[in-house]
Amino acid sequence: PISKAQVLAWLGNLDAVYAAKKGYLTELDAAIGDADHGINMHRGFSKVMEKLPGVADKDIGEILKTVGMTLMSSVGGASGPLYGTFWMKGGMAVAGKDALSVADFLRFLETGVEGLRQRGRAEPGDKTMYDLWAPVLTEARTFAQNGDDAAALAEALVPVGEKALAATIPLQARKGRASYLGPRSVGHQDPGATSSFYMLETLREALR
Ligand code: ADP
Ligand code: MG
Ligand code: MG
Repeated sequence: PISKAQVLAWLGNLDAVYAAKKGYLTELDAAIGDADHGINMHRGFSKVMEKLPGVADKDIGEILKTVGMTLMSSVGGASGPLYGTFWMKGGMAVAGKDALSVADFLRFLETGVEGLRQRGRAEPGDKTMYDLWAPVLTEARTFAQNGDDAAALAEALVPVGEKALAATIPLQARKGRASYLGPRSVGHQDPGATSSFYMLETLREALR
């Protein structure tokens, strides 16, 4: 199972990656958006890190919900409400847990992804973060049927995410600011799918 310490390590890793990739994410967003995605994620997770000590003695569900509420209130634009919903709904789905089995983690993921899908009304192929999560969720569901090894799950999700991320490049955006560009949005990797991919990589690091 995934321990609370591992969840906190995951969030810490993610904060460090968003700090390191702030420029890169902003560059991706400059190509098809308004050049603020790296700034948004960095600001949001800096706030999350400020909030975590206050909830570190709470259960994992409460911690994850706090991540969502913090992002909701500190990140503007499209990604704030979307990630806010993801973490909040996901956290509520594992309320009261002090450790997450693979089945629990799947519930977190399913509920969080369903929340962000509904919030953004994204369909597969719209060139959004949902294009990262849809195949990752499918892989997680398959994986959860074959055992309870969370580290192996995280290990398996990274290559699926990598493929999904690259697959956003040829898509034409149909949601968010990038959709204003029409066909000119083709040929660029989606910033939100990229920041979502870091959630997989940092989880793998935290569980290794
Ligand atoms: P903004 O576009 O408001 O400046 P960000 O730059 O922080 O917000 O985030 C942009 C990312 O948000 C996009 O790359 C895309 O992945 C995601 N996104 C935008 N609109 C939607 C939507 N309707 N559904 C899902 N994801 C979306
Ligand atoms: Mg932007
Ligand atoms: Mg913006």
